[in-house]
Amino acid sequence: MLGPVLLAASRSDRMRRIVAAAPVTRPVVDRFIAGDDLRGALSTVRSLTSDGLEVTLDHLGEDVTDRATANATRDAYLRLLDALAAEGLGKRAEVSVKLSAFGQALPVGGHDIALENVRQVAEAATAAGTTVTLDMEDHTTVDSTLAILDDLRKEHPGTGAVVQSYLFRTEDDCRRLAAPGSRVRLVKGAYKEPASVAHQDKREVDRAYVRCLKILMNGAGYPMIGSHDPRMIAIAQDLATRAGRAHGDYEFQMLYGIRTAEQRRLADEGERMRIYVPYGADWYGYFMRRLAERPANLAFFLRSFVPG
Ligand code: FAD
Repeated sequence: MLGPVLLAASRSDRMRRIVAAAPVTRPVVDRFIAGDDLRGALSTVRSLTSDGLEVTLDHLGEDVTDRATANATRDAYLRLLDALAAEGLGKRAEVSVKLSAFGQALPVGGHDIALENVRQVAEAATAAGTTVTLDMEDHTTVDSTLAILDDLRKEHPGTGAVVQSYLFRTEDDCRRLAAPGSRVRLVKGAYKEPASVAHQDKREVDRAYVRCLKILMNGAGYPMIGSHDPRMIAIAQDLATRAGRAHGDYEFQMLYGIRTAEQRRLADEGERMRIYVPYGADWYGYFMRRLAERPANLAFFLRSFVPG
């Protein structure tokens, strides 16, 4: 019941001000976010990669409404990729981008502005020896994001994208994307979507996730399993074995600060385990989606309001 309320709050400026101003918010935010700036992000990357984990970095920001802010997001990624290249971290750390932060939602020319910005980031990523993955946002953006993926892959074939099993269209998207060289992160989906386009029942979302996993594991691309769900992880391992995939022919991905013991366990088993590390000052929308996903995260947050 609380999930939809929190998802609505994740888009409210009023709630943003209230949550950000609460003195107890920061320690809880720090559990999910690797600092406000590049310095914090790099120190987290060093620590995770020296521990045998891989990383994808997200410079937080979304729903940009002017071109200057979209360009500023691009520049933040360019600085990040320069830093990764300088430290030789490109082998183990890539970047994830939200195209809405690159201008995709701008009313005039948003698609082309986002493409131009992300193209520069993809060039910098290639130069740093690493890749870009396009996060997926609400369903109105999927066509534009997948078209940008196709464009980028012509020159940067390692560019990946995310698909969300809650959307009815996603099995078809998986079929098309399960092609040689294609990197696809499969997630359940984190936005509030209408019943006309998405499964509303969690069990249906899970069933669709397994159908998509089968398509990706049996296809010719590189599946990236973005989930903390023990059932999905076990099924993915089983499907990988049946498809004749060795460790490293696919990878697991989890969010920074969530199920860290399980991240360690999978890495120790020899699985490729990548941690999605968000950083930056614009943490509100990301943080609220994490609270919406799991009552225990919300309880952790609310408990921090209780003194003593
Ligand atoms: P859920 O369905 O939330 O939970 C299933 C089970 O997993 C739970 O019952 C529990 O057993 C276990 N579990 C889940 N969370 C925890 C926890 N905190 N502690 C202990 N056990 C837990 N969504 C998008 O819409 N677009 C994106 O681009 C996107 N990128 C993502 C990238 C990564 C690397 C990951 C991991 C997720 C991403 N998501 C994205 C979010 C995703 O869509 C889901 O909202 C989120 O992952 C929750 O679904 P789940 O499969 O992890 O498990």
